Amino acid sequence: MTSLADAANLALLRTLKPSAPMPVLFVGHGSPMNAIEDNAWRRSWQAIGTELLARTERPQLILCISAHWLTRGGWQVTGMATPKTIHDFGGFPQALFDQQYPAPGAPAVATSLAKELKSPATGAPLGVDLDAWGLDHGTWSVLKPMFPKADIPVLQLSMDYSRPPGEHYALGRQLQALRDRGVLIVGSGNTVHNLRAMRPGTGPNEAYDWATQFDTGVQEQISTGQLDTLQNFQTLGAVAQQSHPTYEHYLPLLYAAGAARSTDKPRFFNTGYQGAAISMRSVLWG
Ligand code: ZN
Repeated sequence: MTSLADAANLALLRTLKPSAPMPVLFVGHGSPMNAIEDNAWRRSWQAIGTELLARTERPQLILCISAHWLTRGGWQVTGMATPKTIHDFGGFPQALFDQQYPAPGAPAVATSLAKELKSPATGAPLGVDLDAWGLDHGTWSVLKPMFPKADIPVLQLSMDYSRPPGEHYALGRQLQALRDRGVLIVGSGNTVHNLRAMRPGTGPNEAYDWATQFDTGVQEQISTGQLDTLQNFQTLGAVAQQSHPTYEHYLPLLYAAGAARSTDKPRFFNTGYQGAAISMRSVLWG
C-alpha cells in the first residue's frame, strides 16, 4: 500500500536535466521582517521572481547558501523530502513565526550532488543532512516572495565556518556547472552586516562611512569582474572588521560569485541600507 507521504515522494525531482544556463543570485536578506513587510526590498524580490519565471526555462531546483546554516568540520546538503521551515530568530511578531515555506526537497538529487561536490578542505564528498536542518530564514524569507507557490524543490548547502574564505569561493566555483542543469544558485547574506552598530529609523540612503566604503568596494569588484578578489576581503582591515565583525553574512556572496562566469553581466538591485549598518545590495548574474 502506498501512503500519502510515499506518493508525494514519488513526485520528487530525481535527476537534473541539461538546461540553458540558469542565472545566479546573491540576495541581501536583512531583517527577517522583510519576509512579511510590504517594503521596497520585498517588492524587488517579488519582481525578480516574476522575471525569472517568465524566462524560457524555469529552474528545476534551487540551491541556497544561507548565512544562517554554519557547520564545522565539513559541508552538508539538506537531504529530506519535506524540509521544515525554521524560524531561527527571536523577538519578532507571531505573524513571522506563522510563516511556512513548504517547498519540497529532492533527496535523490541531494545524495548525488553531495557525492559530486567535493570538500575544498579534504576532497571528500559532502555530507547529507536528514534531520538537523531544513529551510532557515535566510532561505525562506527571500524565496517566499520570489516563488510564492513553493513548487520548485529547494536544497540548502551549509557553510563550514571553520574553513577560510578561499575554500568557500572554491566550492562556489564547483557550483558553476550546476547552472547548466537547471539549478538556480542563491546566496543569501549581506555585503555589510553589523547588527550592533544598527541605528533604527535610518533611511535606505544612510550608512556609516565604513559601510559605504566596504559596500562600494564589493560593487566595484563585481562590476569589473574581479570576482576572485572578493575572497580577500579581510585584507581591507578595519573597514572589513566593522562591516563584518563575524563574516557569515559575507560568505554566501563568495558562493554566488564563484558560480558566476566571466561572461555573465552583473545587475545590482536593492542597493541601500537597513539601519545604516546592513547593506541590502543584491546581484543577479546571467
Ligand atoms: Zn541574516
